[in-house]
This record gives sequence, C-alpha cells and structure tokens, in this order.
Amino acid sequence: MNEEQQSWRLATLGVRAGQHRTGEREHAEPIFTTSSYVFSSAAEAAARFSGEQPGNIYSRFTNPTVRTFEERLAAMEGGERCVATASGMAAILATCLGLLQAGDEIVSSRSLFGSTVVLFNQYLGKLGIRTHYVPLADPAAWEAAITPRTRMLFLETPSNPLTELGDIAALAEIAHRHGCWLVVDNCFCTPILQRPLALGADIVIHSATKYIDGQGRCVGGAVVGSEEVVGGGVYGFLRTAGPSMSPFNAWVFLKGLETLAVRMAAHTQNAQRLAEWLERHPAVARVHYPGLPSHPQYDLARRQQQGPGGILSFEVHGGREAAWRVIDSTRMLSITANLGDARTTITHPATTTHGRLSPEEREAAGISEGLIRVAVGLEDIEDIQADLSRGLGEG
Ligand SMILES: *Cc1c(COP(=O)(O)O)cnc(C)c1O
Repeated sequence: MNEEQQSWRLATLGVRAGQHRTGEREHAEPIFTTSSYVFSSAAEAAARFSGEQPGNIYSRFTNPTVRTFEERLAAMEGGERCVATASGMAAILATCLGLLQAGDEIVSSRSLFGSTVVLFNQYLGKLGIRTHYVPLADPAAWEAAITPRTRMLFLETPSNPLTELGDIAALAEIAHRHGCWLVVDNCFCTPILQRPLALGADIVIHSATKYIDGQGRCVGGAVVGSEEVVGGGVYGFLRTAGPSMSPFNAWVFLKGLETLAVRMAAHTQNAQRLAEWLERHPAVARVHYPGLPSHPQYDLARRQQQGPGGILSFEVHGGREAAWRVIDSTRMLSITANLGDARTTITHPATTTHGRLSPEEREAAGISEGLIRVAVGLEDIEDIQADLSRGLGEG
C-alpha cells in the first residue's frame, strides 16, 4: 500500500485495498481462472521458482484474484500478510500444521466451533499435538494450563452461542510472557467490529464463509498476521499441501468485503433491537448479547469491540418443548446452523451444534434445553420480531 492508502479507514479499505488494475483498465476485479502462468524465458522461470523474482507461478499458491482478497483482508485486519484458504477449517489446519510439531501443546477456549474441537482432539491429537481446554473468560485458568511445551493459545470471541468474551489484550500478554502465539478466530466480529492484532494477538483466523461472504454462497477462509509467521510457516504449508482458495470464491469474498462495514453495522443494529425486545418479553428467561448492560462482560465488550455484533442467544421458559415451538412457529427465519447471512437464521444448540456433547458436558457449558440462537440478518427488524412472536406467544 502507498502512503495515502495507509491512512484509509476501514470502510474505504474494504472497498479499495489490494486492487491492482491490469492494462485493460477494468473497474471491478477480474477473475483469473488460470491454473498456471507463462514465463518469458527459462531464466525467468528459474528466478520465479527460486523465489528470487516475485510473481505468479501456479494458482495453488499464486493467483491475482486471490492475492487481491488477501491484500484487502490483511489491510482491514492491520496485518502484514494474509493467506487465503479453501475454508475456515483449512485456515485453522494450515495455521496448526504450518507452525506446530509433535510434542507441542495448544491451550484453547473450551467453547469452540465443533469441527475445531474435532480437528484438535482427533487429527492433531494423533500427530502428537495435545490441546488443553480452559474457560474462555478466566485468564488465570489460561495461564495455569500453559506448560513448557505450549506454543499456541487459541480462542473465539464472542463465543457461540452464549456470547462469552475472551479478553484478547490480557491473553496476548500471557501468551507472550510464555513465548506462545495468540490465535483468535475472528469470524463472529470481522475486522469491522474487532481487530485482534491491534489488541496484541499474533494471528487472526477467518471463516470467510460467514460474514465476509455475507450471503451464504461460498466456503473459504483466511489467516492473517506477520510476514514472518503467516508468510513463513502458514504460507509454506498452504503452498505445499494445497488447501487453497479458488479465484472465483476470492472474487465473491472481495465483493463481500466491499459491503462488510455497512452490513456489520446493520446486523448489529438489528441484533441490538432484537436483544432489547427479547429481554422485555415475558416468555424469555434470559438473553445473551454483549450489547446488553445485563451481559456480565458488557464493559469488556465496549472496550474490545466496535459493536456487539449480529449473534445472540436466549433462553425460553419451558425447556426443549418451548424452544422447538418457537423455532417451528417461524415462517420466515431459516432453521439452519449457518450464520453471517443476510437471512436471519435460528437454531437449537442443544440438539444441533452442541448435540454431540453429553448432557453433563452441555450443562457445564451452559447450553440449556431452552436455549435458542439467532444470527440476526438484514430483514426489517419488525418482520423478524413478528416471526419470533408467533412461537413466543403474546406474553
Ligand atoms: C464456520 C466456522 C468455522 C469453520 O469455517 P468453514 O468455512 O465452515 O470451514 C470456524 N470457526 C468459526 C467460529 C465458525 O463459525
């Protein structure tokens, strides 16, 4: 980026960062659907392959459309380098396999995306990389779980579905004191609402599938951080192992980044109104949303995030039967576990995303049978409330 671009604010970066026009002077970004690139001579090919000369080689690891997405997201997160991946899970895989080795340990938040837990326990576990789980909101527990073998601290904040927060600055301080990387899955907030690198984190993970796409079309992911770490081990793994993003998907995500600032503001505004309405509703026992003063970490949310975001959960009186009645009474909301979509989605965590846990584990995690998660979309808030009202009753 040149000097002027470095002064651009987030919304501007989302629209413009990373674009390098070709000689055709196209206004929008082209999609480079080519697997390989031609060299002007044998010497140039040799220089490209050796890394002496920068430039395109092969689309597993160099593609101009993908690179534009990487540069734009890196600029928005305030990172030196971004590596785009085939999915959010591929981003986590590339980070772990690119940076860790057998015998290393991870300390991770207990509340984590389900596939991340399986990746850590089953697949990293069989390679000899162990993960210890701790409560997200208790920095002392994180520090106590660190051993001389710990290399990485990993968290999502806010958590799904209870919107608990991890204190990124406090955890970064602990991580660095013990020579570890702090990795933050920033999927729920996006750089518009939370910039973990500025708070001291070393690596940001994204599932671009969620808010970055924003309309539920493509699967993709990204890793953002320093040139040394992300441009080193993470890129090295991606280049070799190949869980890369396709140029078409990169182009869709570029279009998503252009509208991300306005969409996140609209998601947040709708979620805030829905949370306040639910909190007043007599059929609702409790609402979990960082934008409510009743949230136990309301102050941290205001300090750490530029807005409470689009995801909330709430508990209805009457357990599973009442929760399912609310879900089954909706006509507009989509009953699906996906999130970050223009369409509002509704789900029953105890029997879907957290259904693999035993009843005791669910209880310990605070996932009650009456809990409902809503990822608030961009429909008119009055219509979202009307759709939920049917199953909640007049109250
Ligand atoms: C969806 C999700 C992932 C995984 O991303 P995919 O693109 O589905 O592979 C990781 N972390 C969080 C918090 C997610 O919501």
